[in-house]
Amino acid sequence: MPQITKPEFDQAVSAAKTAFKTWREVPVMSRIRTLQKYVSLLTKHQEELARLITLENGKTLPDARGDVFRGIEVAEHGLAFSSLLQGETMETVAKDIDVYSYRHPLGVCAGIAPFNFPAMIPLWMYTLSTVCGNTYIMKASEKVAGCANRMIELTKEAGYPDGVINLVHGGKDTVDFILDHPDIKAVSFVGSNAVGTYIHQRGSHNGKRVQSNMGAKNHAIIMPDAEKEDALNAVVGAAFGASGQRCMALSVVVLVGDTKSWVPDIVAKARSFKTGPGHEAVDVSPLISVEAKQRVEKLIAQGASEGASLVLDGRGVKVPGYPNGNFVGPTVFDNVQASHAVYQEEIFGPVLCCMHADTIQEAIELINRNPWGNGTAIFTRSGAAARKFQHEIEAGQVGINVPIPVPSPMFSFTGNKGSIRGDLNFYGKGALHFFTEWKTITARWKDNPEAYKLSTAFPTMK
Ligand code: NAD
Repeated sequence: MPQITKPEFDQAVSAAKTAFKTWREVPVMSRIRTLQKYVSLLTKHQEELARLITLENGKTLPDARGDVFRGIEVAEHGLAFSSLLQGETMETVAKDIDVYSYRHPLGVCAGIAPFNFPAMIPLWMYTLSTVCGNTYIMKASEKVAGCANRMIELTKEAGYPDGVINLVHGGKDTVDFILDHPDIKAVSFVGSNAVGTYIHQRGSHNGKRVQSNMGAKNHAIIMPDAEKEDALNAVVGAAFGASGQRCMALSVVVLVGDTKSWVPDIVAKARSFKTGPGHEAVDVSPLISVEAKQRVEKLIAQGASEGASLVLDGRGVKVPGYPNGNFVGPTVFDNVQASHAVYQEEIFGPVLCCMHADTIQEAIELINRNPWGNGTAIFTRSGAAARKFQHEIEAGQVGINVPIPVPSPMFSFTGNKGSIRGDLNFYGKGALHFFTEWKTITARWKDNPEAYKLSTAFPTMK
């Protein structure tokens, strides 16, 4: 993927800045109609986009279809933004004085996306920002930019005017262009911790509004009263789907009480998964790169040497016809301790850590000590246990008998603790807050000849 040059980048921002002057004046219902055409085009091309994702990201085709579908759903929610974009009003806050607030677009906004959701995450960004009246600079992950290329081509077909949605390519240099450009007002980032922290700091230092969604370590609790098959199928699917390369992958399962004896069942289910290339009928697809494979294998070796029990080892998995593929098969550790590297690091690979607790209280405390707070889940048939969990757990997206609780688009993506920097969430009402700013007008229209008294005192409204 070519690295955009600084002059080319400046040209893109200048196009976005010019387009903002007219795009913000386009009536909201017209902006929504353009989005509606875009949603129809995305829907028409969803199979093509899914195949592109499988080709360049490697995830399985059914998984890639989910990636596109959930992105389209978020864009569809943008069609409801006309009422969400309404401001607030109050009559007679003082004699003859009314106050009303408008939500105004910010100007040029920018998005920086990770490799693991080539369609969904860019769609969280530019569709909602532009329906609010902003113009956009999108930087896809350089590892999977083909899908973004195609999606941005479709914005032209939908009728977005030139300059409203712009795609720029590259890695760190492009990110720095974004963070330092004075005409970019807001930056949305989704990706790893180190990069997200850097982006949040540098962007904020430069006076931009920044939202940074980062890494995770998502835990599931299995209670002794859980429906065994249902819970184990859910946990194992969420641990190994997309080879664990999801920010909401369940990478730790806390087995409460007697469920510690269920580890062999977890291993049997994990072993039944077929590893191979995403375009074939497989369950576990390759990792994104050679470096990712090497990193995951190194962490597996470290876990074993630190004393966790390696009960299923996916290293060295053989995939006929693909001797050089970035494959790691499903891997399960038992008796993992909080001090082990496999627990402390986000592995972002097909590795499930099993831990044990005697009580739900112990399990909740273990999860709450973890610095990340993206997602979590409990499997139980007890309403009381579920309610205790939802109330006491310190993670922003909670599943009750649901393994990957990514909220529907009318809610927001609400990871917390170390999984987010910035206080405004992606999509849903969070997007509306992030992509607009308030302007509040205090207006006095009197129908009498009375004049203000001459005074230097601070005005009070009585
Ligand atoms: P990454 O941080 O390596 O890359 C993300 C983006 O940052 C890319 O566009 C990349 O070009 C850019 N980038 C990479 N290195 C950079 C650097 N040194 N300086 C500036 N920019 C840089 O992340 P990734 O590997 O593409 O994605 C995986 C990560 O994303 C995981 O940690 C995962 O948990 C996280 N993620 C989080 C969420 C969420 O909503 N919390 C969702 C999906 C993925």
